[in-house]
Amino acid sequence: MRPGQDSLKSMQKRIRGNLLRALKAAGAFDRVRDSRWRQRRLLILCYHSLALDDENQWRPGQFLAATRLRERFETLKQGGYQVLDLGDALARLRQGNLPPHSVVLTFDDGTYDFYSLTYPLLREFGFSATVYQTTHYCSRHMPVFPLICFYMLWKKRDAVLAPTPSIGIMKEIALAAPETRETVVRQIIAFADRQQLSTQQKNELAAELAHRLGIDYHDLLRRRILQIMNPQEIAELAAAGIRFELHTHRHRTPRDQALFEKEIQDNRDALSAMISARPEHFCYPLGHYDRIFLPWLAQQGVVSATTCDPGMALRSSQPLLLPRFIDTTGQTALEFESWLTGVGALVKAGVNVAKLRRFRS
Ligand SMILES: [Zn+2]
Repeated sequence: MRPGQDSLKSMQKRIRGNLLRALKAAGAFDRVRDSRWRQRRLLILCYHSLALDDENQWRPGQFLAATRLRERFETLKQGGYQVLDLGDALARLRQGNLPPHSVVLTFDDGTYDFYSLTYPLLREFGFSATVYQTTHYCSRHMPVFPLICFYMLWKKRDAVLAPTPSIGIMKEIALAAPETRETVVRQIIAFADRQQLSTQQKNELAAELAHRLGIDYHDLLRRRILQIMNPQEIAELAAAGIRFELHTHRHRTPRDQALFEKEIQDNRDALSAMISARPEHFCYPLGHYDRIFLPWLAQQGVVSATTCDPGMALRSSQPLLLPRFIDTTGQTALEFESWLTGVGALVKAGVNVAKLRRFRS
């Protein structure tokens, strides 16, 4: 992002913050939250991972500190929000009988921190949740390859990587700039592709990169940094009531129908070996969707699919393009609360302030 864009964004954020504070002070948050307008809408919250270490400083959009998720759960509890199971909530949305203040919690990818940090927190609050589980790495005791490369380079951003032909790096590279680190990962991936390396061999490349950077790779493995939950963990949580649903096997959505359907099928087969329920809800990896996917999903017996487009779901929403609110480190407590009440969606839709202040339904 360029400096100009950055300051424009922070200015917009400040203006939105002031607007939300004024609306809350005028009682609009309470009126919208308790309105029939809000009761007809379902807020599906989207989370990814909690930080096991400092990953929230590396990618604040993808990782939250565990303390932050606890604060969010406190807000849900104190605001009297009804956290519903995804399947139940979508059935009630269709029937037009959602309870007041309804919310669904979804977690994308199914990384190990869900097992070790998020699940205990959900239990403590008595909240149900859905995990959109990607499965290629489930039975492999290794981190997701591109992610661990990015993370290690970020950890060593003050260092210079010496030429390392064994991983495809031919020239010395200073790691300070994000773009340079991106280039390094692209070169390593291209090298792995040229050599047609297996997932196991890619993990050996990552270990070699760690060695070159002076990082203890065994320690990262031991702490399960950037790893997906394993089949035992998924089975245990499914038996305890966590809903596991589809997110493709290899976290991608090919535009070829046969390849796309194979992603769903492989994902479903892998999950079916771990859990007793048949997964029928889907989430687009990276939020990338195309209307050509809709009939393909329907043919696979998928009944709902969520995007990363911000919004609230209505009875009239296309069930295979349901919006969600993505909660990130950058969202303030006030912004989060505005989305729970429904004010956030109204502000985003451009409803004017005078109307919002007098909101009635
Ligand atoms: Zn994902």
